Amino acid sequence: MPTLDRLAARGEVGRAAVIPPGMAPGSDVGNMSILGYDPGRYHTGRAPIEAAALGLKLRPDQVAYRCNLVTVGSDGTMVDFAGGHPSSDDAAEVVNALDAALGRGAGGEVEFHAGVQYRHIVVAPESWADAICFPPHDLTGKAAAMPRGPAALRLIELMDASRAIVGPSPLAANQVWLWGQGHQPRLPSFTSATGRTGALVTAVDLIRGLGVLTGMDVVEVPGATGWFDTDYEAKRDAALATLAAGADVFLLHVEATDEAGHAGNLDEKVKALEAWDARILDGLVEGLDALGPWRLLLLPDHPTPVALRTHTHDPVPYLLVDSAEDGPGGTYSEAATAGSTPVPGHEMLGRLLAR
Ligand SMILES: [Zn+2]
Repeated sequence: MPTLDRLAARGEVGRAAVIPPGMAPGSDVGNMSILGYDPGRYHTGRAPIEAAALGLKLRPDQVAYRCNLVTVGSDGTMVDFAGGHPSSDDAAEVVNALDAALGRGAGGEVEFHAGVQYRHIVVAPESWADAICFPPHDLTGKAAAMPRGPAALRLIELMDASRAIVGPSPLAANQVWLWGQGHQPRLPSFTSATGRTGALVTAVDLIRGLGVLTGMDVVEVPGATGWFDTDYEAKRDAALATLAAGADVFLLHVEATDEAGHAGNLDEKVKALEAWDARILDGLVEGLDALGPWRLLLLPDHPTPVALRTHTHDPVPYLLVDSAEDGPGGTYSEAATAGSTPVPGHEMLGRLLAR
């Protein structure tokens, strides 16, 4: 990664605690930190952020649940948290049928909203919120642990009732799974919080949702897939074009490195990192130089080690570069930054913007 090495040699490296202690190491929490919002103060759950990405506005007396289409075995094992990865169109038909039979169409208390592939949203009265729910991707191959707590019975009833609609459908999924609930977070806009305009590009709903909730300009790039085949250059060019058009801050997110970690695929992880270097950073620096003085903050929203295939809480290495002023210099890697005291993740944006 020669471009990264060159940038690290003239910048500042360190560690950022993007996941506050006690919080789940997800992209929702990590990216909230990166955008300068303390997740300990602002994070209300994962589902309401995804609901915002779908354009849903929750009333204060409503909560959003993430509603997966899942496959549960006859012995109660979580066979597939992604329900065979249905297409969004096929899934939407089933989700609309659920809304007709168990939601708005039946005068029910809840609303089913179709999202992307196996990932959907249920909006429920806030009396449904008080439950401990288990993310289905943490249950793969294990017993499908039911929700607990005061609202658990309602959730279990709805999940059970969904089998009559999802089971006979053409999907590999056979029921819904509810989790990740919360009220809509009250995030000050990015501009009111920073005095700067912001924009972002991502293929991930959670990050798109954070953009919507903070009033950032969410730039859509056709080739952004959230997978190994994502169009790195198109994201880089979208960043440069948006900055050239006057945006002050641009968040460029790539999911491929995370997916490679989940897949336990070392080759793809290395390829994704090298693509960052050759297909984003190299041309980005050239393009930024042409626009004038710039600063760059580079960091992951959480680790996804290939060896563990899941997210961890560990602080992540960061790189901060100022085109006009050289930093102490260093090497960007976990090993090279292991000795530095982690900075709270939500303070990094302030350091990027400090004058
Ligand atoms: Zn991940």
